[in-house]
Amino acid sequence: MSDAPVLLVTGGSRGIGAAVCRLAASQGWRVAVNYAANAAAAESVVSEIKSKGGDAIAIQGDVGNAADIAAMFQAVDRHFGRLDGMVNNAGIVDQPQRVDEMSVERIERMMRINITGSILCAAEAVRRMSTRHGGKGGAIVNISSMAVIIGSPSQYVDYAASKAAIDTFTIGLAREVATEGVRVNAIRPGIIDTDIHASGGLPDRARDMASSIPMQRPGTAAEVADAVLYLLSSNSSYVTGAIMNVSGGR
Ligand code: NAP
Repeated sequence: MSDAPVLLVTGGSRGIGAAVCRLAASQGWRVAVNYAANAAAAESVVSEIKSKGGDAIAIQGDVGNAADIAAMFQAVDRHFGRLDGMVNNAGIVDQPQRVDEMSVERIERMMRINITGSILCAAEAVRRMSTRHGGKGGAIVNISSMAVIIGSPSQYVDYAASKAAIDTFTIGLAREVATEGVRVNAIRPGIIDTDIHASGGLPDRARDMASSIPMQRPGTAAEVADAVLYLLSSNSSYVTGAIMNVSGGR
């Protein structure tokens, strides 16, 4: 049986999550690729990893649903029998709206998926990795956003606020488990060219915003994945509670 480390990536089927899954597999991780709805996209990431000699599985589960989260981690236990890394990547935006136009349903969905889901997934990961629970240690990377700094006015202030919660959660959890072999860090991507902008009704957002970015271009999912893999690796063994901007200077 392989003793290669195991990584779970929420929202690993597309965009930044898929890039993390591919890069992790190329660096020797076995990968659990979580997705919400797009099974074909998740299976395509799994097939690509396997075609290059890696090991991966796709696991359906909505991180906005506590029962799905529990089942997803149980699937990792059954298939791999260990967990060494977890990336809280699944996240949503919504249609551009002012705060005074937002419904309670929109705000609650945003917070349930982006905040509650990430906290519950981190809790499951800590139960498996922390030496306090008999684990061998590990690393958690939370995907935040530069929206924390910018606030995303007239687009999605609720989203920006949900990512601010992720930053504070990262600092607190990192300190809580610092003596238990678990490092917890966050990445704040800037404008990255993925499908998320179309899902918020602004398919050209990444290209349209290029001139507002000091480096004059959107980033790629692969560029974010490089930073995530650094924080998962032993190269960052003294880094915890850190929040790294990957934003082209924005
Ligand atoms: P994306 O292209 O829209 O991909 C989203 C991924 O998350 C997909 O794999 C999707 O699965 C999955 N997902 C969505 N809702 C989910 C749920 N409830 N449960 C489980 N999985 C779910 O997004 P992205 O641009 O790669 O963004 C990834 C992360 O980076 C998010 O947290 C986002 O907020 C953050 N971020 C992105 C940018 C950017 O400019 N792209 C900037 C800053 C931060 P399906 O394939 O099944 O739909």
